[in-house]
Amino acid sequence: MASDLANDLASNLASNLVSNLANNDVEVVVVGGGAAGIAAARRLREASIDCLVVEARPRLGGRAWTVIDGSGFALDLGCGWLHSADRNPLRGIAEEQGASIDKTPPPWQRPSLEIGFPRAEQNDFHNALQSFFARLERIAERESDLPAATFLDPGSRWNGLINAVSTYISGAEWDRISAKDFDRYEDSGVNWRVLEGLGSVVSACGAKLPAMLDCPVQRIDHRGKRLRIETTKGVITADQVIVTIPSSLLAKEQLVFTPALPQKTEAAVGLPLGYDDKLFMSLDDADEFAKDVRLFGHTDRAATAVYHFRPFGRPQIEAYFGGRLAAELEANGDAAFFDFAVSELTGSLGNDFRRRVKPIQIHRWGCDPFSLGAYSYALPGSAGCRQALAEPVDNRLFFAGEACSLADFSTAHGAWHTGVIAADHLIAVRTKR
Ligand SMILES: Cc1cc2nc3c(=O)[nH]c(=O)nc-3n(C[C@H](O)[C@H](O)[C@H](O)COP(=O)(O)OP(=O)(O)OC[C@H]3O[C@@H](n4cnc5c(N)ncnc54)[C@H](O)[C@@H]3O)c2cc1C
Repeated sequence: MASDLANDLASNLASNLVSNLANNDVEVVVVGGGAAGIAAARRLREASIDCLVVEARPRLGGRAWTVIDGSGFALDLGCGWLHSADRNPLRGIAEEQGASIDKTPPPWQRPSLEIGFPRAEQNDFHNALQSFFARLERIAERESDLPAATFLDPGSRWNGLINAVSTYISGAEWDRISAKDFDRYEDSGVNWRVLEGLGSVVSACGAKLPAMLDCPVQRIDHRGKRLRIETTKGVITADQVIVTIPSSLLAKEQLVFTPALPQKTEAAVGLPLGYDDKLFMSLDDADEFAKDVRLFGHTDRAATAVYHFRPFGRPQIEAYFGGRLAAELEANGDAAFFDFAVSELTGSLGNDFRRRVKPIQIHRWGCDPFSLGAYSYALPGSAGCRQALAEPVDNRLFFAGEACSLADFSTAHGAWHTGVIAADHLIAVRTKR
């Protein structure tokens, strides 16, 4: 059963947790225990460097987070897809952990339900979307850093839905997105999932790491010979630090650097986290629908959720909300998502459909104080910010996290790569000393 492995993976986590700061002097502190922080710390440990992961939440994984629902299904509230699965390091790690990889092609690569969206219209939309991407790819790199919306065909009837797609990919509509940055994203087109949850896979990777949980870092003082990392549980001293917290928090200076690092704040401001939220619902008489098929709530506007019916064949619907719609719903609380979903689903499937669905779980990532959003996009004019954010300071402060990835941003494997890169850089600096 999926839940057994997910529970095993989670219970492994207890082993190396540090409950107090008795040993408050280490070689390297890794701030944040998401995919990037875990990858970095594992690399440091392989190089026999004494490190400590300091994590604000009471769990590791960050935006990689699997929960088990009342029926024993593993639900990924954050990342779920192994994007670019054929070159994604988390796929091999999941396999080593004994997790099951589901290779069913994702709903967005297959025809949608035809309810309110006949096949001919789906083809028309698909062609419009591909033409938009082709225009963007052709022109983005040689132009100044324009909003991606510049490349929409002003006469196209599909601009609403093309914008909805942007909210699922980037968490914001195309007018907010740097065309240059978006164009740099590399996607192999292979998308797989983990039955036991991608979040469980990531957090289990932290099982053997020394980690201090429930311990937000408030300030990093880099004036002296040694770094002072001030946390809610006391001060830690270290030679070097790898900061992996989301760019949204760096932009708001929720972690203070003394002296300040205005170039980092500026880079982070250019890389906000978009809004994306998943609502899981149970579905009665699910067999009426094919497994792993999608339905758009509306096809003529951006403010629509997309509904993934029977993910993994389960009697559920996974609804995805993004951009301005998700931001508005977040402001109105969890119930607003279910109400919105029911109104769209009954609009397409008839009034009786409301009796067949019940909410299971949602997490509002934009309201979560330790992420303030789902994943990063670059604002128009900010295509250089990822490089600027990733740049180390004085060979003592290193930066990682999905927002630092030049071509795999917004993803768990992108975050993982940046953690490895930052750790390797740090190790190289120590070796030369
Ligand atoms: C709804 C949703 C769907 C997604 N879908 C996918 C998907 O299908 N596939 C995919 O690859 N990616 C997906 N992603 C994106 C993916 O989850 C993230 O890109 C990735 O997990 C980010 O990892 P990270 O280490 O960069 O950041 P995080 O996971 O955010 O880790 C940073 C850590 O820092 C901690 N922290 C914050 N402030 C402090 C502080 N002051 N002190 C100490 N610790 C602090 C946080 O608690 C967190 O644990 C999705 C994300 C969301 C929200």
